[in-house]
Amino acid sequence: MSTTPSVATGSTSFDLTVIGGRLIDDPQSDQDIDLDIIGGRIAGTVTGRRHTAGTGTAVLDASDCIIAPGWIDLQLNGGWGVDFTSQPQRIREVARRLPATGVTSFLPTVISSSPATTARAVTTLSAASTRHHGEARSLGIHLEGPFLNPLRKGAHPPHHLRLPSIEEAAQWSAAAGVAMVTLAPELAGALELIDVLRANGVVVSAGHTAANAEELRLGIDAGITAATHLYNAMGPFGGREPGTVGPLLADRTVVTGLIVDGLHVDPIMVDVAWRARGPRGIALVTDAITALGAGYGAFGIGDTEIIVDETGARTATGILAGSVLRMDEAVRNLIAFTGCSSADALVAASTTPAILLGRSDLGNLLVGSIADLVLLDGAHDVVSTVIDGEVVYDPQQRFSPAR
Ligand code: ZN
Repeated sequence: MSTTPSVATGSTSFDLTVIGGRLIDDPQSDQDIDLDIIGGRIAGTVTGRRHTAGTGTAVLDASDCIIAPGWIDLQLNGGWGVDFTSQPQRIREVARRLPATGVTSFLPTVISSSPATTARAVTTLSAASTRHHGEARSLGIHLEGPFLNPLRKGAHPPHHLRLPSIEEAAQWSAAAGVAMVTLAPELAGALELIDVLRANGVVVSAGHTAANAEELRLGIDAGITAATHLYNAMGPFGGREPGTVGPLLADRTVVTGLIVDGLHVDPIMVDVAWRARGPRGIALVTDAITALGAGYGAFGIGDTEIIVDETGARTATGILAGSVLRMDEAVRNLIAFTGCSSADALVAASTTPAILLGRSDLGNLLVGSIADLVLLDGAHDVVSTVIDGEVVYDPQQRFSPAR
Protein backbone atom coordinates (compact mmCIF):
# COMPACT_ATOMS: atom_id res chain seq x y z
CA MET A 1 0.00 0.00 0.00
CA SER A 2 1.22 3.46 -0.75
CA THR A 3 0.68 6.07 1.88
CA THR A 4 -1.47 9.06 1.25
CA PRO A 5 0.44 12.19 2.15
CA SER A 6 -2.29 14.24 0.53
CA VAL A 7 -4.35 13.92 3.69
CA ALA A 8 -4.30 17.21 5.53
CA THR A 9 -2.55 17.20 8.87
CA GLY A 10 -2.24 19.55 11.78
CA SER A 11 -5.46 21.45 11.97
CA THR A 12 -7.61 18.65 10.57
CA SER A 13 -9.73 16.86 13.11
CA PHE A 14 -10.31 13.13 12.78
CA ASP A 15 -12.53 10.88 14.86
CA LEU A 16 -9.59 8.64 15.69
CA THR A 17 -5.89 8.57 14.79
CA VAL A 18 -3.92 5.37 15.27
CA ILE A 19 -0.43 6.62 15.99
CA GLY A 20 2.99 5.15 15.35
CA GLY A 21 2.35 1.58 14.08
CA ARG A 22 3.68 -0.44 11.15
CA LEU A 23 1.59 -1.53 8.20
CA ILE A 24 1.50 -5.27 7.59
CA ASP A 25 2.18 -5.12 3.89
CA ASP A 26 5.27 -2.99 4.25
CA PRO A 27 7.60 -5.21 6.29
CA GLN A 28 10.72 -3.65 4.79
CA SER A 29 9.78 -0.23 5.99
CA ASP A 30 11.23 0.95 9.25
CA GLN A 31 8.98 3.96 9.20
CA ASP A 32 6.05 4.30 11.54
CA ILE A 33 2.73 5.46 10.18
CA ASP A 34 -0.28 7.24 11.55
CA LEU A 35 -3.69 6.11 10.32
CA ASP A 36 -6.60 8.53 10.41
CA ILE A 37 -10.27 7.55 10.70
CA ILE A 38 -13.36 9.62 9.99
CA GLY A 39 -16.91 8.35 10.23
CA GLY A 40 -15.81 4.76 10.78
CA ARG A 41 -13.78 4.73 7.56
CA ILE A 42 -10.05 4.96 6.87
CA ALA A 43 -9.34 8.54 5.83
CA GLY A 44 -5.63 8.17 5.13
CA THR A 45 -2.23 7.18 6.38
CA VAL A 46 0.76 9.40 7.02
CA THR A 47 4.29 8.02 7.00
CA GLY A 48 6.82 9.24 9.50
CA ARG A 49 6.71 10.47 13.01
CA ARG A 50 3.84 12.89 13.11
CA HIS A 51 2.73 11.24 16.32
CA THR A 52 0.39 13.97 17.34
CA ALA A 53 -3.27 14.30 16.66
CA GLY A 54 -5.23 17.46 16.13
CA THR A 55 -7.44 18.84 18.85
CA GLY A 56 -10.72 16.97 18.93
CA THR A 57 -9.19 13.72 17.69
CA ALA A 58 -9.09 10.59 19.84
CA VAL A 59 -5.82 8.63 19.77
CA LEU A 60 -4.87 4.97 19.81
CA ASP A 61 -1.18 4.43 20.53
CA ALA A 62 0.13 1.72 18.17
CA SER A 63 3.78 2.00 19.21
CA ASP A 64 5.69 -1.26 18.57
CA CYS A 65 2.60 -2.79 16.94
CA ILE A 66 1.69 -4.14 13.52
CA ILE A 67 -1.53 -2.61 12.16
CA ALA A 68 -3.52 -5.27 10.30
CA PRO A 69 -7.00 -5.35 8.80
CA GLY A 70 -9.55 -6.86 11.19
CA TRP A 71 -9.92 -10.62 10.93
CA ILE A 72 -12.90 -12.33 9.35
CA ASP A 73 -13.98 -15.81 10.52
CA LEU A 74 -16.05 -17.57 7.85
CA GLN A 75 -16.99 -20.48 10.09
CA LEU A 76 -17.88 -19.96 13.75
CA ASN A 77 -20.44 -22.23 15.41
CA GLY A 78 -20.48 -20.36 18.70
CA GLY A 79 -18.33 -19.91 21.77
CA TRP A 80 -18.27 -18.99 25.43
CA GLY A 81 -21.07 -21.44 26.17
CA VAL A 82 -23.29 -20.38 23.23
CA ASP A 83 -24.25 -22.59 20.26
CA PHE A 84 -25.63 -20.63 17.29
CA THR A 85 -27.60 -23.59 15.93
CA SER A 86 -29.65 -24.26 19.07
CA GLN A 87 -29.33 -20.83 20.78
CA PRO A 88 -29.27 -18.25 17.97
CA GLN A 89 -30.85 -15.63 20.25
CA ARG A 90 -27.58 -15.50 22.22
CA ILE A 91 -25.40 -14.37 19.30
CA ARG A 92 -24.49 -11.06 20.95
CA GLU A 93 -22.82 -12.85 23.87
CA VAL A 94 -20.32 -14.20 21.35
CA ALA A 95 -20.06 -10.97 19.34
CA ARG A 96 -18.93 -9.21 22.53
CA ARG A 97 -16.10 -11.67 23.11
CA LEU A 98 -14.66 -11.91 19.61
CA PRO A 99 -12.71 -8.61 19.48
CA ALA A 100 -10.28 -9.99 22.10
CA THR A 101 -9.37 -12.70 19.55
CA GLY A 102 -8.80 -10.18 16.74
CA VAL A 103 -12.03 -11.12 14.93
CA THR A 104 -13.96 -8.07 13.75
CA SER A 105 -16.42 -9.83 11.41
CA PHE A 106 -17.77 -13.37 11.38
CA LEU A 107 -20.29 -15.69 9.82
CA PRO A 108 -22.43 -17.30 12.56
CA THR A 109 -22.52 -20.90 11.39
CA VAL A 110 -25.47 -23.29 11.68
CA ILE A 111 -24.93 -27.04 11.27
CA SER A 112 -27.28 -29.63 9.79
CA SER A 113 -30.58 -29.57 11.69
CA SER A 114 -34.26 -30.10 11.16
CA PRO A 115 -35.91 -27.71 8.68
CA ALA A 116 -37.66 -25.99 11.61
CA THR A 117 -34.44 -25.49 13.61
CA THR A 118 -32.58 -24.22 10.56
CA ALA A 119 -35.38 -21.81 9.68
CA ARG A 120 -35.54 -20.51 13.26
CA ALA A 121 -31.76 -19.99 13.35
CA VAL A 122 -31.82 -18.12 10.04
CA THR A 123 -34.64 -15.84 11.18
CA THR A 124 -33.12 -15.13 14.60
CA LEU A 125 -29.50 -14.65 13.47
CA SER A 126 -30.56 -12.48 10.56
CA ALA A 127 -32.61 -10.23 12.83
CA ALA A 128 -29.58 -9.85 15.12
CA SER A 129 -27.21 -8.78 12.36
CA THR A 130 -26.99 -5.13 13.43
CA ARG A 131 -23.66 -4.44 15.11
CA HIS A 132 -23.87 -2.99 18.59
CA HIS A 133 -21.32 -0.97 20.58
CA GLY A 134 -18.32 -3.05 21.56
CA GLU A 135 -19.24 -6.06 19.43
CA ALA A 136 -17.90 -7.82 16.35
CA ARG A 137 -20.01 -7.67 13.18
CA SER A 138 -22.00 -10.52 11.67
CA LEU A 139 -21.64 -10.58 7.89
CA GLY A 140 -24.45 -13.09 7.48
CA ILE A 141 -25.16 -16.70 8.24
CA HIS A 142 -23.12 -19.68 7.09
CA LEU A 143 -25.37 -22.71 6.69
CA GLU A 144 -23.09 -25.76 6.92
CA GLY A 145 -25.54 -28.34 5.69
CA PRO A 146 -27.95 -30.00 5.64
CA PHE A 147 -27.24 -30.92 1.98
CA LEU A 148 -24.09 -32.92 2.80
CA ASN A 149 -22.83 -36.33 1.78
CA PRO A 150 -23.52 -38.93 4.54
CA LEU A 151 -20.22 -40.59 3.57
CA ARG A 152 -18.41 -37.48 4.81
CA LYS A 153 -20.79 -36.37 7.53
CA GLY A 154 -18.14 -35.71 10.21
CA ALA A 155 -20.02 -34.77 13.37
CA HIS A 156 -23.24 -33.78 11.56
CA PRO A 157 -26.22 -35.90 12.70
CA PRO A 158 -26.92 -38.33 9.83
CA HIS A 159 -30.69 -38.15 10.36
CA HIS A 160 -30.56 -34.42 9.53
CA LEU A 161 -28.72 -34.83 6.21
CA ARG A 162 -30.91 -34.63 3.11
CA LEU A 163 -30.75 -34.12 -0.62
CA PRO A 164 -30.58 -30.57 -1.98
CA SER A 165 -33.98 -28.93 -2.09
CA ILE A 166 -34.62 -25.68 -3.91
CA GLU A 167 -37.90 -25.48 -2.02
CA GLU A 168 -36.28 -25.65 1.42
CA ALA A 169 -33.58 -23.20 0.34
CA ALA A 170 -36.04 -20.72 -1.17
CA GLN A 171 -35.50 -18.24 1.69
CA TRP A 172 -31.71 -18.56 1.69
CA SER A 173 -30.55 -15.31 0.13
CA ALA A 174 -28.20 -12.46 0.89
CA ALA A 175 -31.28 -10.29 1.39
CA ALA A 176 -32.50 -12.70 4.08
CA GLY A 177 -29.13 -12.66 5.82
CA VAL A 178 -27.57 -15.86 4.45
CA ALA A 179 -24.00 -15.26 3.29
CA MET A 180 -22.70 -18.77 2.64
CA VAL A 181 -23.94 -22.33 2.19
CA THR A 182 -21.76 -25.44 2.45
CA LEU A 183 -23.03 -28.36 0.37
CA ALA A 184 -21.79 -31.50 -1.36
CA PRO A 185 -21.85 -30.81 -5.13
CA GLU A 186 -22.11 -34.49 -6.10
CA LEU A 187 -25.57 -34.89 -4.55
CA ALA A 188 -28.60 -35.08 -6.84
CA GLY A 189 -29.99 -31.61 -7.41
CA ALA A 190 -26.90 -29.81 -6.08
CA LEU A 191 -25.92 -28.10 -9.34
CA GLU A 192 -29.38 -26.58 -9.80
CA LEU A 193 -29.36 -25.38 -6.19
CA ILE A 194 -25.89 -23.82 -6.58
CA ASP A 195 -27.23 -21.84 -9.51
CA VAL A 196 -30.19 -20.57 -7.46
CA LEU A 197 -28.05 -19.68 -4.45
CA ARG A 198 -25.57 -17.72 -6.59
CA ALA A 199 -28.45 -15.81 -8.14
CA ASN A 200 -29.59 -14.99 -4.59
CA GLY A 201 -26.17 -13.57 -3.69
CA VAL A 202 -25.03 -16.51 -1.55
CA VAL A 203 -21.45 -17.82 -1.60
CA VAL A 204 -21.48 -21.59 -2.16
CA SER A 205 -18.78 -23.74 -0.61
CA ALA A 206 -18.02 -27.41 -1.28
CA GLY A 207 -17.79 -29.35 1.96
CA HIS A 208 -18.61 -32.62 3.71
CA THR A 209 -18.22 -34.03 0.24
CA ALA A 210 -16.92 -37.11 -1.54
CA ALA A 211 -16.83 -35.32 -4.90
CA ASN A 212 -14.19 -36.48 -7.35
CA ALA A 213 -12.36 -34.07 -9.62
CA GLU A 214 -15.08 -34.13 -12.28
CA GLU A 215 -17.92 -33.63 -9.81
CA LEU A 216 -16.04 -30.78 -8.17
CA ARG A 217 -15.38 -29.21 -11.58
CA LEU A 218 -19.10 -29.30 -12.38
CA GLY A 219 -19.81 -27.65 -9.02
CA ILE A 220 -17.27 -24.91 -9.67
CA ASP A 221 -18.70 -24.36 -13.14
CA ALA A 222 -22.14 -24.02 -11.52
CA GLY A 223 -20.89 -21.34 -9.13
CA ILE A 224 -18.94 -22.82 -6.22
CA THR A 225 -16.23 -20.36 -5.12
CA ALA A 226 -15.15 -21.83 -1.79
CA ALA A 227 -14.35 -25.07 0.00
CA THR A 228 -15.09 -25.80 3.64
CA HIS A 229 -12.27 -26.93 5.99
CA LEU A 230 -9.85 -28.39 3.45
CA TYR A 231 -8.85 -32.00 4.21
CA ASN A 232 -11.59 -32.47 6.83
CA ALA A 233 -14.76 -34.37 5.85
CA MET A 234 -13.80 -34.72 2.18
CA GLY A 235 -12.33 -37.42 -0.06
CA PRO A 236 -8.62 -37.90 0.72
CA PHE A 237 -6.00 -37.96 -2.01
CA GLY A 238 -3.19 -40.17 -3.22
CA GLY A 239 -0.94 -40.31 -6.27
CA ARG A 240 -3.50 -42.02 -8.54
CA GLU A 241 -6.56 -40.98 -6.56
CA PRO A 242 -6.86 -37.19 -6.33
CA GLY A 243 -10.10 -37.45 -4.32
CA THR A 244 -11.61 -34.10 -3.36
CA VAL A 245 -8.49 -32.72 -1.70
CA GLY A 246 -6.22 -33.12 -4.76
CA PRO A 247 -8.28 -30.95 -7.13
CA LEU A 248 -8.73 -28.34 -4.40
CA LEU A 249 -4.97 -28.15 -3.89
CA ALA A 250 -4.48 -27.82 -7.65
CA ASP A 251 -7.27 -25.28 -8.09
CA ARG A 252 -6.43 -21.63 -8.69
CA THR A 253 -9.71 -19.90 -7.93
CA VAL A 254 -11.56 -21.52 -5.05
CA VAL A 255 -10.89 -20.11 -1.57
CA THR A 256 -10.41 -22.99 0.84
CA GLY A 257 -11.08 -22.67 4.53
CA LEU A 258 -8.44 -24.31 6.70
CA ILE A 259 -8.54 -25.12 10.43
CA VAL A 260 -5.01 -24.53 11.68
CA ASP A 261 -5.25 -25.79 15.25
CA GLY A 262 -2.71 -28.59 14.73
CA LEU A 263 -5.45 -31.18 15.44
CA HIS A 264 -7.76 -31.05 12.42
CA VAL A 265 -4.88 -30.97 9.94
CA ASP A 266 -1.33 -32.14 10.52
CA PRO A 267 1.14 -29.22 10.40
CA ILE A 268 2.89 -30.87 7.43
CA MET A 269 -0.37 -30.92 5.46
CA VAL A 270 -1.00 -27.29 6.42
CA ASP A 271 2.36 -26.51 4.86
CA VAL A 272 1.46 -28.53 1.75
CA ALA A 273 -1.81 -26.59 1.37
CA TRP A 274 -0.05 -23.29 1.91
CA ARG A 275 2.60 -24.05 -0.73
CA ALA A 276 -0.11 -25.11 -3.17
CA ARG A 277 -2.60 -22.28 -2.61
CA GLY A 278 -0.87 -19.45 -0.74
CA PRO A 279 -2.47 -16.54 1.12
CA ARG A 280 -4.96 -15.72 -1.66
CA GLY A 281 -6.25 -19.30 -1.83
CA ILE A 282 -6.60 -20.06 1.86
CA ALA A 283 -8.88 -18.48 4.44
CA LEU A 284 -8.09 -19.20 8.06
CA VAL A 285 -11.24 -20.33 9.86
CA THR A 286 -11.70 -21.42 13.46
CA ASP A 287 -14.78 -23.71 13.13
CA ALA A 288 -14.98 -23.03 16.87
CA ILE A 289 -17.92 -24.34 18.87
CA THR A 290 -19.71 -23.45 22.10
CA ALA A 291 -16.71 -24.72 24.10
CA LEU A 292 -14.42 -21.97 22.78
CA GLY A 293 -13.30 -20.00 25.83
CA ALA A 294 -15.26 -22.30 28.16
CA GLY A 295 -12.62 -24.85 29.19
CA TYR A 296 -12.87 -28.66 29.14
CA GLY A 297 -16.17 -30.50 29.68
CA ALA A 298 -19.39 -31.54 27.95
CA PHE A 299 -21.06 -29.18 25.45
CA GLY A 300 -23.58 -29.31 22.62
CA ILE A 301 -23.54 -28.36 18.96
CA GLY A 302 -26.97 -28.58 17.38
CA ASP A 303 -28.42 -31.63 19.12
CA THR A 304 -25.12 -33.54 19.35
CA GLU A 305 -23.20 -33.84 22.62
CA ILE A 306 -19.52 -32.93 22.41
CA ILE A 307 -16.73 -33.69 24.87
CA VAL A 308 -13.82 -31.26 25.00
CA ASP A 309 -10.45 -32.30 26.40
CA GLU A 310 -6.78 -32.00 25.44
CA THR A 311 -7.46 -34.02 22.23
CA GLY A 312 -9.93 -31.43 20.98
CA ALA A 313 -13.73 -31.31 20.66
CA ARG A 314 -15.16 -34.73 19.81
CA THR A 315 -18.43 -36.63 19.65
CA ALA A 316 -19.05 -39.66 21.89
CA THR A 317 -17.54 -41.82 19.13
CA GLY A 318 -14.38 -39.72 18.94
CA ILE A 319 -15.09 -37.77 15.75
CA LEU A 320 -13.66 -34.24 15.67
CA ALA A 321 -16.58 -31.83 16.00
CA GLY A 322 -15.39 -28.30 15.44
CA SER A 323 -12.63 -26.72 17.45
CA VAL A 324 -11.80 -24.54 20.42
CA LEU A 325 -9.40 -22.54 18.25
CA ARG A 326 -9.08 -18.75 18.47
CA MET A 327 -8.24 -16.83 15.32
CA ASP A 328 -5.11 -15.32 16.90
CA GLU A 329 -3.89 -18.86 17.64
CA ALA A 330 -4.64 -19.84 14.04
CA VAL A 331 -2.48 -16.95 12.78
CA ARG A 332 0.40 -17.90 15.07
CA ASN A 333 0.07 -21.60 14.16
CA LEU A 334 0.09 -20.84 10.43
CA ILE A 335 3.31 -18.87 10.77
CA ALA A 336 4.85 -21.65 12.88
CA PHE A 337 3.75 -24.49 10.57
CA THR A 338 4.69 -22.85 7.25
CA GLY A 339 7.34 -20.25 8.03
CA CYS A 340 5.28 -17.71 6.12
CA SER A 341 5.56 -13.97 6.67
CA SER A 342 3.18 -12.31 9.09
CA ALA A 343 1.92 -10.21 6.18
CA ASP A 344 0.88 -13.32 4.25
CA ALA A 345 -0.71 -14.95 7.31
CA LEU A 346 -2.74 -11.82 7.97
CA VAL A 347 -3.99 -11.79 4.35
CA ALA A 348 -5.38 -15.31 4.92
CA ALA A 349 -7.17 -14.04 8.02
CA SER A 350 -8.63 -10.89 6.50
CA THR A 351 -8.18 -9.97 2.83
CA THR A 352 -8.94 -13.39 1.36
CA PRO A 353 -12.21 -14.02 3.24
CA ALA A 354 -13.30 -10.44 2.50
CA ILE A 355 -12.73 -10.90 -1.24
CA LEU A 356 -14.60 -14.22 -1.16
CA LEU A 357 -17.59 -12.45 0.38
CA GLY A 358 -17.39 -9.63 -2.15
CA ARG A 359 -16.56 -7.08 0.55
CA SER A 360 -13.98 -4.77 -1.00
CA ASP A 361 -14.59 -2.39 1.94
CA LEU A 362 -13.22 -4.94 4.44
CA GLY A 363 -9.97 -6.87 4.80
CA ASN A 364 -7.70 -4.02 3.71
CA LEU A 365 -6.39 -0.67 4.94
CA LEU A 366 -7.20 1.35 1.84
CA VAL A 367 -8.63 4.85 2.05
CA GLY A 368 -12.41 4.61 2.17
CA SER A 369 -12.52 1.10 3.62
CA ILE A 370 -14.29 0.36 6.89
CA ALA A 371 -11.93 1.03 9.81
CA ASP A 372 -11.64 -2.50 11.21
CA LEU A 373 -8.15 -2.96 12.62
CA VAL A 374 -6.16 -5.38 14.74
CA LEU A 375 -3.02 -4.17 16.49
CA LEU A 376 -0.54 -6.98 17.12
CA ASP A 377 2.71 -7.18 19.04
CA GLY A 378 5.81 -8.94 17.74
CA ALA A 379 4.52 -12.31 18.99
CA HIS A 380 1.23 -11.79 17.10
CA ASP A 381 -0.76 -11.39 20.27
CA VAL A 382 -3.74 -9.06 19.94
CA VAL A 383 -2.99 -5.71 21.58
CA SER A 384 -6.04 -3.74 20.48
CA THR A 385 -9.03 -4.10 18.16
CA VAL A 386 -10.95 -1.40 16.29
CA ILE A 387 -14.32 -1.93 14.57
CA ASP A 388 -16.08 0.78 12.54
CA GLY A 389 -13.46 3.16 13.94
CA GLU A 390 -14.49 2.27 17.50
CA VAL A 391 -11.82 0.93 19.88
CA VAL A 392 -13.53 -2.22 21.18
CA TYR A 393 -10.62 -4.06 22.81
CA ASP A 394 -7.87 -2.21 24.63
CA PRO A 395 -6.56 -4.04 27.71
CA GLN A 396 -3.35 -1.96 27.72
CA GLN A 397 -5.36 1.28 27.75
CA ARG A 398 -3.67 2.69 24.68
CA PHE A 399 -6.78 4.70 23.79
CA SER A 400 -7.10 8.37 24.74
CA PRO A 401 -10.38 10.17 24.09
CA ALA A 402 -10.46 13.43 22.19
CA ARG A 403 -9.23 16.43 24.09
ZN1 ZN B 1 -17.79 -29.28 9.05
